[in-house]
Amino acid sequence: MKTKRFIYILAGVMLIASLIIGCAGGGRARTGVFTGSAIGHGGTIIVEVAVDSGNIISIDVIQHSETPFFYERPFERVISAAVNDGNLNVDNVTGATLSTMGIRAAIADALSDARINTRRMMLPRPAHTARNIQMAADVVVVGGGGAGLAAAVTASQLGASVIVVEKMSMLGGNTIIAGGAINIVNPELQRRIGIQDSIDLHFRHTFDGGGQLANPELVRIMVENALDGKNWLSSLGLVWEEQVSTAIGALHPRSHNPVMPIGTGYIDAYQRFIARPNSNIQVLLDTRATEFVMQGGRVTGVRATNRLGDSFTLTASRGVINAAGGFGSNVEMRMRYDELWDGRLDHRIQTTNHPGATGEGIAMAQAIGAAVVDMGFIQLLPIGDPRTGSLSGVLSIMVEDYIQVNEQGRRYVAEDARRDVLVASTFAQTNSAMYLILDSRLFPIGNESTVFGDTVNSLVHYGRAHRANSIPDLARMLGMDPNVLQETVNRYNAMVDGTLQCEFGRGIWRHRIETPPFFANRRVPTIHHTMGGVVIDRYTRVIDVNGNIIPGFYAAGEVTGGIHGNNRLGANALTDILVFGRIAGESAVRGR
Ligand SMILES: Cc1cc2nc3c(=O)[nH]c(=O)nc-3n(C[C@H](O)[C@H](O)[C@H](O)COP(=O)(O)OP(=O)(O)OC[C@H]3O[C@@H](n4cnc5c(N)ncnc54)[C@H](O)[C@@H]3O)c2cc1C
Repeated sequence: MKTKRFIYILAGVMLIASLIIGCAGGGRARTGVFTGSAIGHGGTIIVEVAVDSGNIISIDVIQHSETPFFYERPFERVISAAVNDGNLNVDNVTGATLSTMGIRAAIADALSDARINTRRMMLPRPAHTARNIQMAADVVVVGGGGAGLAAAVTASQLGASVIVVEKMSMLGGNTIIAGGAINIVNPELQRRIGIQDSIDLHFRHTFDGGGQLANPELVRIMVENALDGKNWLSSLGLVWEEQVSTAIGALHPRSHNPVMPIGTGYIDAYQRFIARPNSNIQVLLDTRATEFVMQGGRVTGVRATNRLGDSFTLTASRGVINAAGGFGSNVEMRMRYDELWDGRLDHRIQTTNHPGATGEGIAMAQAIGAAVVDMGFIQLLPIGDPRTGSLSGVLSIMVEDYIQVNEQGRRYVAEDARRDVLVASTFAQTNSAMYLILDSRLFPIGNESTVFGDTVNSLVHYGRAHRANSIPDLARMLGMDPNVLQETVNRYNAMVDGTLQCEFGRGIWRHRIETPPFFANRRVPTIHHTMGGVVIDRYTRVIDVNGNIIPGFYAAGEVTGGIHGNNRLGANALTDILVFGRIAGESAVRGR
């Protein structure tokens, strides 16, 4: 149970006078502190609301179990509207709808005890008069995901003022919902656990694993600067697990994870830096960049609009960084560009991506002449949730932990293969679906959180995972022949023991599957990553369609192309956005 206290105190009689709220049932509003509760995303939210003469004086959240990070913006939005405007009619925060609804309902519950008419608080708020806002900084960054924030923090560390424009209600983009796994050659740690690795091997895996189609100069820069990036993140306070594994499709055990779940550790580190009094980074949330401004052949700023309809002109004296992410959530772009999946990427295929991954950064860059590359290369991942397409509910993304079986209970692929191979072979199975089969030695069971913040108990309770004390029992739950699944597990264990030759060519494992209870997790292919995007050079300068540098314009992260070829290695995207995000920040400040 997490408890975070959110207290909003009103100051000033004038404001209070304007907030008097009608009473429920005609009685007088009561004065005092009232407790209310409601169910959010993670469980019960309890608030204490202080009311005086019909005015809300403060709201204190005294208990909640909402997902870290994802509750902050909804709580802040609803509580500040309630306290400052006496209104609860605020938009739900995308991606945190249940937390928004939960906090609103908990406050309403407390207010009904105070005999305050909460129906009036749901009336539309007074119309906002749209403003034209001019702002200036050394560097303007479009997109507050991992690449944009790495760039912003780097620029700030070099003494620049920075504005970050983020269209969603919170920072993080795909980065905050990522599995958190990042590929880094880290000889000290890897040697300690008996893993051979080298920068050259990481280069080869990345370049060959992407069909030798990437820009080798960019690949080389990424693999060579990964460890320095990790150390830099540590200097910002990020704490790492002391182990490496193989994220699905990573091809080698060099995937590191922060201690904090999913991608939250990265965004937490950046946010804590931004919150420092001297960071000089201003974040505009709910603000969508609509256009890159060019003057005299140079990119000098960004135009944007916010949720209230205000227009912004943001001028950048040193550079503009495009870090607006990929287009996994944009069905029209997927269908227009796809060259790998024979037109299957329409709305019937879901995505792991957040709803803001719509590719505007690419289109806006093209509008000022930027070249694009590899746009036809769109990656799917075979471990999506069958209902939502997201990675939520997956028991593990680490190859060492599981085998993949089809609905007949048979393995059909080397689980440590490239992602495009894993997906194509899963499409060839009955219902294009498969089960991950795991035992209880390798990942959290019971009420501990999995990497995606679920507990195994809740996944089993809601039928999103299955648990049994024996493999035959598990098979029966899944409608498989118990003998077939048992035989599959026996053969896998014999491979681990070395008494059976590797089947399908699998070479990565850690343990036999033998410790009950056993688990199964049904998963399907969903759209995951877009390898294509704007063309950049080694300094992340954006290149135009004639092969020339566009002055003042930089790009980093999934908005760019040329780094992964036709198949991105698992856990290489976080390496990419870290390394090139930092380079973009530095290049903009130094005017490269
Ligand atoms: C569920 C999931 C799990 C993943 N797991 C891993 C993993 O474990 N390891 C790994 O290496 N990779 C992983 N990836 C891939 C990786 O997370 C992404 O490629 C990476 O985070 C992209 O970072 P980014 O900063 O380029 O984009 P994002 O993090 O998506 O940030 C881009 C931001 O730009 C904003 N934006 C877009 N358009 C505009 C606009 N017009 N104006 C203002 N803002 C705008 C978006 O809202 C977003 O916040 C995963 C991806 C997903 C979806």
